[in-house]
Amino acid sequence: MTRVLVLPGDGIGPEVIREAVEVLARVAPDVETETGLIGGAALDETDVPLPPDTLERAHACGVVLLGAVGGPRWDGLEQDRKPERGLLGLRKELELYANLRPAPVIPALADASPLRPECVEGVDLIVVRELTGGIYYGEPRGRDEVGGVRRAFNTMVYTEPEVRRIARVAFETAGRRRKKVTNVHKANVLDVSAFWNEIVEDVAPEFPDVTLEHQLVDSMAMVLLRDAASFDTVLCPNLFGDIISDEAAMITGSLGMLPSASVGDGGRGLFEPVHGSAPDIAGRDAANPLATILSVAMLLEHALERPDAAARVRAAVDAVLADGWRTADLARGDEKPIGTREMGERVRAALGGS
Ligand code: NAD
Repeated sequence: MTRVLVLPGDGIGPEVIREAVEVLARVAPDVETETGLIGGAALDETDVPLPPDTLERAHACGVVLLGAVGGPRWDGLEQDRKPERGLLGLRKELELYANLRPAPVIPALADASPLRPECVEGVDLIVVRELTGGIYYGEPRGRDEVGGVRRAFNTMVYTEPEVRRIARVAFETAGRRRKKVTNVHKANVLDVSAFWNEIVEDVAPEFPDVTLEHQLVDSMAMVLLRDAASFDTVLCPNLFGDIISDEAAMITGSLGMLPSASVGDGGRGLFEPVHGSAPDIAGRDAANPLATILSVAMLLEHALERPDAAARVRAAVDAVLADGWRTADLARGDEKPIGTREMGERVRAALGGS
C-alpha cells in the first residue's frame, strides 16, 4: 500500500494542496494520504520548521506532496529557524539528489511567454538538475587572506557515483519522453566538466534508445531562447541547472503552472509547485492550483509508476485551459478569472469518473 505524506505548509499552500489532493483521490483512489506540518505552520505549533514527527513519517512514506513554505510572519527569525529550512532539511534527509523541472509551453497559454509565438511553439522540455553536489557543497570553501589580499573561494567537485546516478535519472526520464538528452557543461574550461562528460558518455550505452548530445552552458543559454523546442531532457550539474531551469521556466511565462520533483533512490520523492507561498494572495481563493495539480501528475509518474494516470491529469488540465478557464494570474484582457476552488473542480470534472 502506497502512502503519500501531504505537507500543505504556509500561505496559499493549504489552498492549492486541497485541490491537488482531491485530484489524486480521483485518479488513484487506492493511494492513502496523511497530513503533516512543515515551515511556518510547524514553527507555530512545535517551534521548529521540520518537526521530528514529520521527518519520521516522510521516511516511512517515502513520497511527499508539498504546498509551499514561508511568509512575512517568520521573516525575522534567525536563518536556521526559518520556514525554508524545513524544506531544505527534508530534501537533504531524504537524499533527494535529482531535481526535475518540466517547462512545457501549454498551447492555450502560449501568449503568456515573453518570447515571440514562433519561438515557443512546441516547447516541451524538462531540466534534470543535480541537487546535492557540485559547487554549492564542495570543500574547501570560505574566505581567507593571502599576503594581505582578501579572497573567497568555492570548489566545484563531483564524484563518479554522483555523476552516474544523475545521468541515469536523465536517461530514464528521456526514455519516457522523446528520447534525447542534452548534457550541459563547460568542458572547454573546467576539468570537473570534462570529467562529468566522460561519465555521462560512459552511462549512455546503458540506454541505447536515447540519443546524447552535449551543449556548452553559455551557448545553451542562447539556444534556449532561439530554439527551445529542439530540447527534450536537459541534464545539468547543480550550478548550471539552477540558472537554466529558471530560464526555461520564464519561457513558459506562468509561475502558477510549473510543477517540480526532487527524487532519490528507491522511489523516494518530494513533489511541489515551483512557486512560493504567495502571501499577497493567500486566503483569498485567488491562487492557481494547477502547478500543484501537475505536481501530482509527476508524483503519479515518478513515484507511483502510473504514467497513464499522470497523462489523464495533464490532459484534464489542458482541456480546462483550452475551454478558456483562467485563474487571475493567467487571465488576460477581459477574461473573467475563476477561483482556486473552481479551477480544481473544473479539472476534476474534466477527469470524469475514476
Ligand atoms: P512566490 O512564488 O510566493 O510569489 C511570487 C508572485 O507570484 C506573487 O505575486 C504571487 O502572488 C504570485 N504567485 C505565486 N504562486 C502563484 C499561484 N499559484 N497562483 C497565482 N499567483 C501566484 O514568491 P515570493 O513572493 O518571492 O515568496 C513568498 C514566500 O514564499 C517567501 O516567504 C519565500 O521564501 C517563499 N518561497 C517558498 C518556496 C517553496 O516553498 N518552495 C519557493 C519560493 C519562495
